[in-house]
Amino acid sequence: MQELIEGVYKFRQEDFGHYRELFQRLSKKGQHPHTLFITCADSRVPAMLMTHSEPGDLFVVKNVGNIIPPSDLTHATNSTAAAIEFATGVLGVGDIVVCGHTQCGAMHALLDGEPKDSEMPHLGQWLRLAQPVRDTLAEHYLHLTDHEDRATAAAGENVRLGLKNLRTYPTVAKRLADGSLQLHGWMFKIATAEVFAYEPESGQFTPINHD
Ligand SMILES: [Zn+2]
Repeated sequence: MQELIEGVYKFRQEDFGHYRELFQRLSKKGQHPHTLFITCADSRVPAMLMTHSEPGDLFVVKNVGNIIPPSDLTHATNSTAAAIEFATGVLGVGDIVVCGHTQCGAMHALLDGEPKDSEMPHLGQWLRLAQPVRDTLAEHYLHLTDHEDRATAAAGENVRLGLKNLRTYPTVAKRLADGSLQLHGWMFKIATAEVFAYEPESGQFTPINHD
C-alpha cells in the first residue's frame, strides 16, 4: 500500500502539471471516449499505456480473461454486459476492441480445468462462459502440445468468441447495422508489447503496423 500512496503523491507532484488542462477540460465537458476497450484484468496488460492513450480516450473494461458473455445470459449480475450497453447505447463509442494476451492465467485455468465451485464459485462460473473456447481447442488444436502455445491459441479463440458474442447485444447490433460502430479483435504479447489484430478474411492475427 505504501507504494500506492507514494505513487499518488508523486503523480500529483511530478506528472499532474502535464495533464492539468486535460483533466479540467474533462471535468467540465464530461467523457466522450472514442473506444470501448475490453481486456484482461491481468496487471501486465496496460490498456492506456500500450495504446499511448490519454485520460478520456478509452472506456476500459477489465475482467478475468477478457470474456464477453452473450447478451442472453440471464440470472446474473454482469458488469461487462452493463458496460457494453452503456458504452454503445449512451456514450456512443465508435469502436470496440476485445484484447486478449499471451500468458493469460484465465486461459490456462480454462484449459487445465476450472477451480472447484466450493472454493471459488464465481470464478468457476465466469470461466465456464468461455467453454466454447475449450471445445475449439480440443477439436482443432490437438497439434499444439506446448502448454503456452495452447494458452495463446485459446486467447485468440477467446477473442473471436468475444467478437461473436458482442454482436448479440441489441445496442451493438443496431450500431453495426447503421455503420457507426466497428469491432476489433487484438492480441497483446506481453514480452515485446507487440499488438496483433484479427483479420476475419484470413482468420489470422497479424502485427499492427503504422500504415
Ligand atoms: Zn489474462
